[in-house]
Amino acid sequence: MRLYNTLTKRKEEFVPIEEGKVRMYVCGPTVYNFIHIGNARPMIVFDTARRYMEYKGYEVNFVSNFTDVDDKIIKKSIEEGIPAEEVSERFIKECKKDMADMNVRPATTHPQATKEIQGMLDMIQTLMDKGYAYNVNGTVYFRTRKFEEYGKLSHKNLDDLRSGERALLVTGEDQKEDPLDFVLWKPKKEGEPAWESAWSDGRPGWHIECSVMSKKYLGDEIDIHAGGEDLIFPHHENEIAQSECANGKIFAKYWLHNAFLNIDNRKMSKSLGNFFTVREIGEKYDLQILRFFMLSAHYRSPLNFSQEIMEASKNALERIVTCADSLKRIADAAANADLTAEESAKLTEMAAFRNKFEEAMDDDLNTADAIAAVFELVKFANTEAVSGCSKAFAEAVRKEIIELCDILGLIAEKKEEVLDADIEALIQERTAAKKAKNFARADEIRAQLLEMGIVLKDTREGVVWTRA
Ligand code: AMP
Ligand code: ZN
Repeated sequence: MRLYNTLTKRKEEFVPIEEGKVRMYVCGPTVYNFIHIGNARPMIVFDTARRYMEYKGYEVNFVSNFTDVDDKIIKKSIEEGIPAEEVSERFIKECKKDMADMNVRPATTHPQATKEIQGMLDMIQTLMDKGYAYNVNGTVYFRTRKFEEYGKLSHKNLDDLRSGERALLVTGEDQKEDPLDFVLWKPKKEGEPAWESAWSDGRPGWHIECSVMSKKYLGDEIDIHAGGEDLIFPHHENEIAQSECANGKIFAKYWLHNAFLNIDNRKMSKSLGNFFTVREIGEKYDLQILRFFMLSAHYRSPLNFSQEIMEASKNALERIVTCADSLKRIADAAANADLTAEESAKLTEMAAFRNKFEEAMDDDLNTADAIAAVFELVKFANTEAVSGCSKAFAEAVRKEIIELCDILGLIAEKKEEVLDADIEALIQERTAAKKAKNFARADEIRAQLLEMGIVLKDTREGVVWTRA
């Protein structure tokens, strides 16, 4: 498998540090609101990378954080008159719901910055001891000039950056030794969450959070570090500086960055009024369609979101689902169970689509071409697996479609519709169970209905149900 590495600006063969294992860190969202569809892009893209690596047999330790201490969270907590923690806990929960609806699997670990403060204090102290950090009136800065490789990820000319930054220095920052020095620890302002430290009561800078969480859950050296391309500078550049100076080891071997998502060919922004949360899109579309749309382009290409493209994605995904569904009906109705010799030969031919799929994914996760291979398979299915074929043949083709889609996190099986009559029947059974004092069964039925998205409410007039 080849991956484009921002560090070397080349596609490189992926060789893990430890054979058969992948340690991967993806910078997660700042949780002050519902996530927007831009945030969904790295989630979907890197979840797909993880799924593909697992398909190839790697054991993937996948860590993605929640940034739960930040100016925007504090601002929101002041606006709403609630503690910052309440804001972040609420939106972590909402984010996890959106992730589940987009079929993004939970990470192996989802660390939260506020729960890892001790690790940050330790790393900052190490940097101080080694001369890579300095304290000015309670603010601790990283001494970029001391790290000779600073700038290696973003390939920036440091002198240009320095003169640019010097002009931008805001009051209070002139205490820095160098305009490129960045904050590791800052003293608290009135009303802000704060932790005790040797330098001041305060809170960590954003960059140190990821260096520490990555070290704690994945170790000093990791295989892949990923995020949106806006994070290359300064966030990831600073993470490298902190981790490599503190640990004395190369931080991450491969740096992967997704390009941005635009809306109607313009940068997504609240002020332009072209800003959508994942939840808003979910009210109109099954979020599988959003996932399909995201994967229909290569992750390093800018992607444009529009109503028309979502409609086209809906139709395209529907073609796959309909094909898998009709194969199921063909299999159920088939007169012959076993493969004919001719069908066996066709199945050998069918392997070409999986090969194409893998070739595309091996080439820097080219999901666009992988999806094209799935469509070739659908075309094959629609012409070869028609009524009259054996059950084994229809089932094999259907299984192939479902498996390839599953690697991309797309569900090709049609969701079974829950019919009102089935719900009523279960409710009647539950009422009867309760009458017979079989409360275990009654609870079991309630849980079963909940799983089907049906919520029960016991009222004086009897049981009332709603679709969740
Ligand atoms: P943030 O909460 O702003 O730190 O963003 C969380 C993740 O979403 C980061 O990896 C960002 O790079 C990514 N991201 C934010 N906006 C977009 C966008 N419009 N398109 C693609 N990725 C984005
Ligand atoms: Zn990060």
